[in-house]
Amino acid sequence: MKAVTRKINLLDMNQQALRDFFASIGEKPFRATQVMKWIYHEGISDFQAMTNLGKALRATLEEKAVIYYPTCITEMPSADGTRKWILEMEDGNHIETVFIPEKGRGTLCVSSQVGCTLNCTFCSTATQGYNRNLTTGEITGQVVFANRTLGIPANAGKLPVTNVVMMGMGEPLMNFDNVIRAMEIMNDDIGCGISRRRITLSTSGVVPAMYRMRDVCDVSLAVSLHAPNDDLRSELVPINRKYPIKELLEACRHYVEGKARRRITFEYIMIDGVNDTRKHAKELARILEGVPAKINLIPFNPFPQSGYRRSKTENTEMFRDILIAAGYTTIIRKTRGDDIDAACGQLVGKVFDRTRRQQKADAKTVSVRGIL
Ligand code: SAH
Repeated sequence: MKAVTRKINLLDMNQQALRDFFASIGEKPFRATQVMKWIYHEGISDFQAMTNLGKALRATLEEKAVIYYPTCITEMPSADGTRKWILEMEDGNHIETVFIPEKGRGTLCVSSQVGCTLNCTFCSTATQGYNRNLTTGEITGQVVFANRTLGIPANAGKLPVTNVVMMGMGEPLMNFDNVIRAMEIMNDDIGCGISRRRITLSTSGVVPAMYRMRDVCDVSLAVSLHAPNDDLRSELVPINRKYPIKELLEACRHYVEGKARRRITFEYIMIDGVNDTRKHAKELARILEGVPAKINLIPFNPFPQSGYRRSKTENTEMFRDILIAAGYTTIIRKTRGDDIDAACGQLVGKVFDRTRRQQKADAKTVSVRGIL
């Protein structure tokens, strides 16, 4: 296992970097195409099986490089066909990846960090604290792993993962470079071959990174809004204190500006008695005026100690109807995989927490108990 870290992981490289790598070892750059096809289209990670490479090149690759991705330690199938995998990295940290099959497509929910730094009050990943960013290879590796596990079709057939949502553990824009490179590889025809429209990055609103992203990458953008005013949003999504709603929506407008038929997806968790009243719906409709928007209402998924309840179905439907009447495309997201804790906000995994958040939370509970 140790040797792995000293060698170059080819999954960390986009096509250009791989071409440069082959040039640096005295090979023709087109070797990059051959190797990427083996990795991403055929699911091959053994250089000896790459039969169109000469013996000497295979030996050089063995010596200098690896094709490494996290290993699966648990697979949990849900009754609705959703599958959750717990993957372990070299350093023992765990992440979770979820596959959601639907008619005609297969969506993979991919993690970007071990844990998360953001501390949103309704999200179970937050309770785990944070350890580190994932490498590009650990991000693209989730797609390679899923395709391999679900079955690589023969004769260049359609790969099982047709869509990716960067909605697993972590805040993808806090791991900007690795995530952008990973999405390039996912999008590349000789990589995972997923069109830009079928890759969605979800952010809690890291505003400067949204501007940077606009310049380098053109995937679909989803924004975790969850509240129609700063007071409430700052409570639920603390990063709002740094980047309030006005700035966030300005960044959203900028992201889609000049792009025909592009819209931002706004995610809005429905939490009973917190953000789900008629007044909230009207306020939401008002603040989104002028932003090309699509709204996804997400029924809150409970987890131990969350302290919140899911909105009543009739409230969620009332909320949706107000938004539709105001002219917004609005859907209620179907909850998938909640029987295996694979639904939104339920991903946890084993995180060697470096922020000691769990300890601090425990200490707080103890001191509160002390007062009582
Ligand atoms: N950090 C990014 C990526 C995570 S995406 C972001 O915040 O967008 C995961 C989505 O699930 C986000 O919209 C998140 O707000 C939502 N979510 C988190 N906890 C949830 C819960 N308990 N129930 C339902 N949705 C939740």
